[in-house]
Amino acid sequence: MLVDNHNRRINYLRLAVTDRCNLRCNYCMPSEGIDFVKNDKLLTIGELSKISEVLVSQGIDKIRITGGEPFVRKDLMVLLRKLSTLDKLPDISVTTNATLIGPYIDELKALGIKNINVSLDAINRETFERITRRNQFDTVHNNLIRLITEGFNVRINFIVLEGQNEQDIVPILDLMKHYNVSVRFLEEMPFNGGSKNFSGIKWDYKAILEHISKSYSDFQKLESPPTSTSINYKIEGHKGTFGIIPSFSRTFCGSCNRLRVTATGDVITCLYGKPKANLRDVIRGENGVEEIKNVVLETIGNRAKTGFEAQAEHSKTIFENSMTSIGG
Ligand code: SAM
Ligand code: SF4
Repeated sequence: MLVDNHNRRINYLRLAVTDRCNLRCNYCMPSEGIDFVKNDKLLTIGELSKISEVLVSQGIDKIRITGGEPFVRKDLMVLLRKLSTLDKLPDISVTTNATLIGPYIDELKALGIKNINVSLDAINRETFERITRRNQFDTVHNNLIRLITEGFNVRINFIVLEGQNEQDIVPILDLMKHYNVSVRFLEEMPFNGGSKNFSGIKWDYKAILEHISKSYSDFQKLESPPTSTSINYKIEGHKGTFGIIPSFSRTFCGSCNRLRVTATGDVITCLYGKPKANLRDVIRGENGVEEIKNVVLETIGNRAKTGFEAQAEHSKTIFENSMTSIGG
């Protein structure tokens, strides 16, 4: 079992498989001039498999594949096939923008990979295109409906962006009323290539909840697992649920069970802090596989207690990188 220096059990790995993406969401990446890392700096599928295997042997039982956009990576299914053979890994999840997942839906189902988070910040075509800077609305919509009707556990991640998509908060709940999905509203974080630096946000979880309660008075708070980052609710008469993730306010650190490994192998023990080691260098060195375990144990033994403490590791802006290198 992996336990950190604040006695929190670490059993959840968020594994980024690429920093590339086919969208350019304006809260995540600049429209151009992005310095994507060279291919030889990315972990290979073999390395991603090996790292996963070692971490699962140490007590990780949930892996979420993220990116960049995971399905931009042509060999992603090779990794997913391998992960699905690991007996001690009951939960494999994927976070995706749902543009490229279509051809893989049948195989994902066959592999037993059922938990898919779809990032969708608008139900209006123009708003979607303005935010993502691409015209993939129909593809995303069709893939989303297909995932839901094929029985995947779908969660929609909707980042509430001041002046951009607040008018879609209630309509997306109306639209999803008859579907068994969870719509999760996220506070925006200042991760957009460093161009924005803010000390507060308008749409924090209280504002989001207040906004929803003006249209829906009849909803109940649900019990959530202690490690959940979302505060969850059920609206009377709705098949699914909704949640709010206070990413900026950070009320969830006390029960954080997460470890992140970026596509280049950086080990991140807190989303708000700096990388603590690099597993690519380790795995490509002598005794690579044995060393992965030692490095991870050391980083987990030195975790910041809260996101606010970790944030102090940055000297200038809170977040110098795009979220695309970290994976959310
Ligand atoms: N491309 C995939 C997607 O969009 O789902 C996976 C990678 S994306 C970086 C992972 C998650 O990070 C998404 O749900 C996205 O909405 C979230 N994200 C990106 N930038 C963010 C920001 N500035 N604040 C909050 N969440 C952000
Ligand atoms: Fe791409 Fe996801 Fe970032 Fe949007 S949020 S630009 S889909 S990585």
